[in-house]
Amino acid sequence: MSEIKRILVTGGAGFLGSHICERLVDDGHDVICLDNFFTSQKSNVVHLLGRPNFELIRHDITLPIFLEVDQVYNMACPAAPGHYQFNPIKTIKTSVMGSINLLGMAKRCGARILQASTSEVYGDPEVHPQPESYRGSVNPIGPRACYDEGKRAAETLFVDYHRMNKVDVRIVRIFNTYGPRMHPYDGRVVSNFIRQALTGNDITIFGDGSQTRSFCYRDDLVEGIIRLMNYDQFSGPVNIGNPGEFTIRELAELVIELTGAKVKLIEGPLPADDPTRRRPDITLAKKLLDWQPSITLREGLVKTIEWFKSIDLSHYRPPTPNY
Ligand code: NAD
Ligand code: UDP
Repeated sequence: MSEIKRILVTGGAGFLGSHICERLVDDGHDVICLDNFFTSQKSNVVHLLGRPNFELIRHDITLPIFLEVDQVYNMACPAAPGHYQFNPIKTIKTSVMGSINLLGMAKRCGARILQASTSEVYGDPEVHPQPESYRGSVNPIGPRACYDEGKRAAETLFVDYHRMNKVDVRIVRIFNTYGPRMHPYDGRVVSNFIRQALTGNDITIFGDGSQTRSFCYRDDLVEGIIRLMNYDQFSGPVNIGNPGEFTIRELAELVIELTGAKVKLIEGPLPADDPTRRRPDITLAKKLLDWQPSITLREGLVKTIEWFKSIDLSHYRPPTPNY
């Protein structure tokens, strides 16, 4: 095993953060999970609470915090459109003020710090698939801007702390990821379709369903992120995602097939600024990290549907106001 490190995971109780915590605890590291539980709940990490190398802190990253750590995974930020648009000002504060607080901490204690950025920095892309060199097409005043521009500003902060203060940074641009522990009411397409199919409700396609996304299973994603964090030669940004591209209608049909649900597809209005297509160019991740996804959408959906069948939906609530 590699050297044991003290590692902070912000947003550590969320969908992706909880899996990163789990993996790092299993690898023997000393893990601090920090979360304000805006879009998550303790049940995501309750199985780790008895482990001697796991600690849970309730804190909001828009406020400073002083910890002694070797690495930071900054995963804290609402990620689903419904969640990040719920309180857009708080969303951009989380990306900007949160990054400033954590970069300051990383500078003080000499920690390496990774930012969970997003394919949303490419906006509604004119270049397809999207390489890291593409600068994006984001509407700075649209409903997605609080997230997209917050994440873009966070990338700027990470790169400037590196240039000016020599902070050891990593930036990963994550493309749509799904799997067990997604919030069932987050409104994202995979969680919506599976929940609707399992509860016998019609599947809501926004627009005509011809828009595309490329869906990565969470285990592949977590592996890619951990590889980037521990790669010494390049700070990023690096795209991590699955290049398999599907229309939203194809996704709906696959969910119906795999659940055996007797439900219809119904069309609703397409939200403003909804990207028409998205697919990662992962040439860089393959070359630098020797990483590529191994789980197909069909395989990943089967695992995710099993998890959705196992949970009690009444234990999950939409976010509460959080200023
Ligand atoms: P999630 O909502 O499940 O997790 C985010 C976590 O951050 C939650 O536990 C939430 O309570 C916490 N949080 C939010 N604001 C906070 C604050 N101010 N202080 C402390 N904690 C706070 O979402 P996720 O899908 O696990 O996303 C994790 C990260 O990955 C996010 O930064 C997101 O932008 C990024 N990302 C995810 C995807 C994806 O498809 N899942 C795609 C691109 C980027
Ligand atoms: N979508 C849909 N029905 C839903 C939820 C989402 O058709 O019930 C569409 C949405 O309009 C978008 C795509 O699915 O085109 C992915 O949406 P999601 O919110 O999961 O993530 P995004 O990639 O847009 O951030």
